[in-house]
Amino acid sequence: MGKKQRKVPKIKRLSAHDPRLKSSSALFFQYNTQLGPPFHIIVDTNFIGFSIKNRMDIMQSMMDTLYAKCIPYITDCVMGELEKLGSKAKLSLKIAKDPRFERLPCMHKGTYADDCIVQRVTQSKAYIVATCDKDLKQRIRKIPGVPIMFLSNHRYTIERMPDAYGDPRQ
Ligand code: ZN
Repeated sequence: MGKKQRKVPKIKRLSAHDPRLKSSSALFFQYNTQLGPPFHIIVDTNFIGFSIKNRMDIMQSMMDTLYAKCIPYITDCVMGELEKLGSKAKLSLKIAKDPRFERLPCMHKGTYADDCIVQRVTQSKAYIVATCDKDLKQRIRKIPGVPIMFLSNHRYTIERMPDAYGDPRQ
């Protein structure tokens, strides 16, 4: 917990009468409250699968990574992907149905989750995306302000987290 460092935002160096102060601080805080805490994390199919393979408790590992309350989200289409996988994804499905996981209803057809997730984070900057899928990560990186959580060396890592939250890897 004590390792978490907060960078002093540049706006503090402006004079109190500087017109930039009001707008930039408003933006700063607006951005913060949108993203969390609690952190809202959209989880995709393979992220659940990899977490199981690594014997990681998703809820606990997320909180260990971000030092704050985290709420995982499952979209209808991710649930659809898991259901399609059948017995192979039995445990994933059980986790996705955990009541601590919030459900995001989908209006689109089909169960292809990547387009759905990209669209959601393009429209709202309130989410972090948890995925181990290379293609999806590439697509998310093109959208400004969306942090990505993934699994590496048996632990969760987060990239593109705004400086104001500190760097959880430190
Ligand atoms: Zn969807």
